[in-house]
Amino acid sequence: MTEPRRVVISVDLDEWYHCRWATGAPHSRWKDTAAFFRAHYGTDRPTGELAGPTRRILELFARRGVRATFFILGEVATHYPELVREIAAAGHEVGSHGFHHVDIDMLGPDGFRDELRRGRDVLADILGKPPIGYRAPNLLLRDFMIPILREHGFRYDASVCTARSLLGKDFGHEHVARNPYRFRDRFSRPDPAGDLVEIPIPTVPVLRLPAATGILTRVAGVGWTMWGLRDALATGDAQYYFHPYEMGPRPRLAFTWRERLFLRRLGPWMERAVDRIVLRLAEQGARFVTGRELAEAV
Ligand SMILES: [Zn+2]
Repeated sequence: MTEPRRVVISVDLDEWYHCRWATGAPHSRWKDTAAFFRAHYGTDRPTGELAGPTRRILELFARRGVRATFFILGEVATHYPELVREIAAAGHEVGSHGFHHVDIDMLGPDGFRDELRRGRDVLADILGKPPIGYRAPNLLLRDFMIPILREHGFRYDASVCTARSLLGKDFGHEHVARNPYRFRDRFSRPDPAGDLVEIPIPTVPVLRLPAATGILTRVAGVGWTMWGLRDALATGDAQYYFHPYEMGPRPRLAFTWRERLFLRRLGPWMERAVDRIVLRLAEQGARFVTGRELAEAV
């Protein structure tokens, strides 16, 4: 890094069963989370698996002086309002991760509008103010979503991963740039009149595979993630994100090889890996900011 860069560390507050193989996509194992709760827990709500790892993340951030952004799923917020308040009270930004964790292509524009409003309103009710940052479930951002985000008071999005298609998932972003940008400045579509900011998720150079995500840290290692982050930081600011469930225990289920890959190295390994990434970034002079702060500075 030639000059100090800003890095947003972000956390998606959802659970392992929100992964596409489990729920929320056309070929998921369970129809929705309600069906999952009944089948797996025998109740109509989650059992609190999320709380412990989330609190350990808050401790890690406090120890390392990181103020982060938590993109919180509306469904999770309704089950854990106290946790939402704890996150905000610790000085972190709360953004929205939608309401249900479902692929945007299953919703369409009207469905997306409803989900966005519900996800925003539940956070506003808990915290007394609406979020201005958004991350799409499964990182699927489509152009039609941009004006709808602006209508609902969002000022930035953090869903664009500049990767090629991977394991049947087409990220589908034509409007890609590896450092944060205003859509208006970089692309004539999809926001020609507005000033919505995008905070993208870096990939590794040449291969264009995701790098700065917890899943890829667990699958490919800390070195892989740092490779993508260093590449992005050579030209501007960057972002790294992960999930609380990645620091929790491995769920007890029979898994396919692909599911086992996605659940590799959960728990203490991942907790140490995130700590190392934060330390390495700090050593390289990165300044940790929230998504809101970065969006205001772009
Ligand atoms: Zn998610």
